[in-house]
Amino acid sequence: MGKFLDAVTKGLKSMSEGPRGDRYSVAGQPATCAHCHGDLFIEGRAQLNTAGMTFLNLDWANRSAATLACTECGRIEWFLSDPERIE
Ligand SMILES: [Zn+2]
Repeated sequence: MGKFLDAVTKGLKSMSEGPRGDRYSVAGQPATCAHCHGDLFIEGRAQLNTAGMTFLNLDWANRSAATLACTECGRIEWFLSDPERIE
């Protein structure tokens, strides 16, 4: 587990040295990081695994979620609706 966390931390560090990220809005609200209040993110997509989601009654969520990774602290915010990039 420690090695896994090291790898994640290293990955996020190298990410924050790369692109600075973009600003996004979700459902008309600008996305901000719940941890550091940063507003620069890198967008990603994650498949939601069906077993857990069925249990949570989230079948309607189309089994795919958008993720916004904060480039400041590395927190990942999950959204079931698509974030819009703010130019
Ligand atoms: Zn953050």
